[in-house]
Amino acid sequence: MPHVASVCPFCGCGCGLYLQVAGGRVIGTSPSPDHPVARGRLCVKGWHAHEVATSPGRLTRPLIRRDAALEPTSWSDALDLVAGRLLSLKAEHGAAAVGVLGSARCTNEDNFLLSKLARVGLGTNNVDTTARLEALPGLFDLPQYRHLTRPGAGIAALDEADLIILWRTDPVQDHPAAAARIVRAARRGVPIVEVAWLSGQMGNAAALKLAPRPGSDAWLAGGLLHIALQQAASLSPEWECLAASFSDLTPDRAEAATGVPAGLIAEAGRMLGAAVRPLIVYTRALTLQSEAADVLAGLSALRHNNHGSGEGWPRLLWLSRYSNLQGARDMGVVPYFLPGYQPLADQRARAKFGEAWGAPIPTEGGLSGWEMLGAVRALFVMGDDPLGALPDPAGARRALGALDLLVVVDTVLSPTTEAAHVVLPGASFAEKDGTFTSSEHRLQRLRAAVSPPGEARPEWQIICELSRRLGRPMEYASAADIMAEVASLAPPYTGITYQALDDSPGGLFVPPQATTGEEAGETAARAELSLPAEQAPAPETDDGFPFILALDHGLRSWGSEPIVLGSVCLRRELAPGRAPRTAQLEISAADARQSGFRDGQQVVVRSRVGEMRGALHLSESLRPGLLLLPYSAREAAAAVMPPSLHGETGVPLLLPCAVSIHQVQ
Ligand code: SF4
Repeated sequence: MPHVASVCPFCGCGCGLYLQVAGGRVIGTSPSPDHPVARGRLCVKGWHAHEVATSPGRLTRPLIRRDAALEPTSWSDALDLVAGRLLSLKAEHGAAAVGVLGSARCTNEDNFLLSKLARVGLGTNNVDTTARLEALPGLFDLPQYRHLTRPGAGIAALDEADLIILWRTDPVQDHPAAAARIVRAARRGVPIVEVAWLSGQMGNAAALKLAPRPGSDAWLAGGLLHIALQQAASLSPEWECLAASFSDLTPDRAEAATGVPAGLIAEAGRMLGAAVRPLIVYTRALTLQSEAADVLAGLSALRHNNHGSGEGWPRLLWLSRYSNLQGARDMGVVPYFLPGYQPLADQRARAKFGEAWGAPIPTEGGLSGWEMLGAVRALFVMGDDPLGALPDPAGARRALGALDLLVVVDTVLSPTTEAAHVVLPGASFAEKDGTFTSSEHRLQRLRAAVSPPGEARPEWQIICELSRRLGRPMEYASAADIMAEVASLAPPYTGITYQALDDSPGGLFVPPQATTGEEAGETAARAELSLPAEQAPAPETDDGFPFILALDHGLRSWGSEPIVLGSVCLRRELAPGRAPRTAQLEISAADARQSGFRDGQQVVVRSRVGEMRGALHLSESLRPGLLLLPYSAREAAAAVMPPSLHGETGVPLLLPCAVSIHQVQ
């Protein structure tokens, strides 16, 4: 039976796997025994990855909305309609009225061509992916913060670290490939520190568990730094200001802000200061919080001090929920970067791409994915699901409903396709050649194991067909041809070929180089980094609103992903049963007992701005004082927790808020 080497399409760990093929169908998945990340193992998602291709819900024909229903049509009719409408809307309202969303699940080659389509086919820099939300993108893609996601650590750093801090992540659920290494590290005696509201399975192995109140992570980081910097043998002058900014943040003050006992903060700070190779692992559960940049910039600051740590340590290991979020960003699916993080504002970069692509690059800055909704008249969406991703589904639904043209390329129906005027069937990871770039910047090949079902096509081919109709022909014989162009234009990928990837079964690293501007920005960020130790973090609780309601971004949120819901076994594993009719609110068992609530009880939750209903679920692992709601249930929370915009970036965030709980009368 043929086994085709590929990459898991789910999370950013980038496990290598084999697709088993029989009778022109993928019938199974097996781990790659010598893959440097998978090491012969896959998690439940990886084992069922082939179901992404075999889902009974696969889209197999182009669909056009006639009256209220989506009806099958031919490729030529669908693409003619899309091209004609895009051209007429652009002529009538200008190129800024058109936007494009790429995908953290599609290949680099798909995303590169989408970036090109937007810039020279449509003449707009409105190109983004809503998946960038998970990495506080407005921050991580700003020069002063980009060092936070430059590869300071790969997954292999888990084998070298002498202290591992899990900051708001439960790798057993979120990134099992990393979890396996952390378990081994714990067995070797490496201390694990867990920072979490809801203690995860890895918490059982933790030497210390710190449960800061929501909104106070930056104060906890400051408290740890206060202690760790005291242990520094010497500080470089540029960092003395940093140490000074934490000088007041004693463990007692940090306790007042975070609720974490001062003794625990002091102990964790001493461990951080004494460690030679400390590693901080974090995921979107942290980066979807407004204080994420302060936490990460603060902890990474230790790297620049002679406090006894090994060179290049502490390291930060960011693990994405998506298989190719890193790659989509690398390919310029970002409104203000051309591929390879070449700034749109750089005239030389624009000239370089304009010459290569045969048309000038527009100079007008683009809108982010969340800014596009409500601002553009036409949206071309490739493998993205803004309705499933954005913090305000009701607002996103209204904005999508108001579009003159919504085109969605996807493999299965999603909440967003339900609002589309045209739906085009794309290819799954098992049906096309291409590459993914994992969270640790590991570039790996996917290989077409089978043909797409029905009339479905690889996304890059759809883009070429559309671009030809827009009067900007793109000619590529294969995905390898596209990678050749990527390699010629995007510096991190210079020299990359499919042959080179075939010769390196574990993939090749493509770390972007820091630019001069970034280093300057990083220095500025260091100088500005300070925490208001006198001020209690929001949200403020009181007798009237004694609990804090927050959203959970863990495994339970996989159950709402269209690619999971379309897969029989994965749905059983990750979305068992019907979606509950009421929002499930996790509450600590201690709080429930004290307040007289029982498991499953229907309650009303009130904040200072509104109320919602839900059913309580008692948890022994949840921090007291907290109510936790799955991210997929955020629409229900909108009444009590309206989205707010992050001040520095305009990124919409759903921030924890103070609430009270009441019995349903
Ligand atoms: Fe796939 Fe991530 Fe699981 Fe590895 S850990 S098998 S990449 S979902």
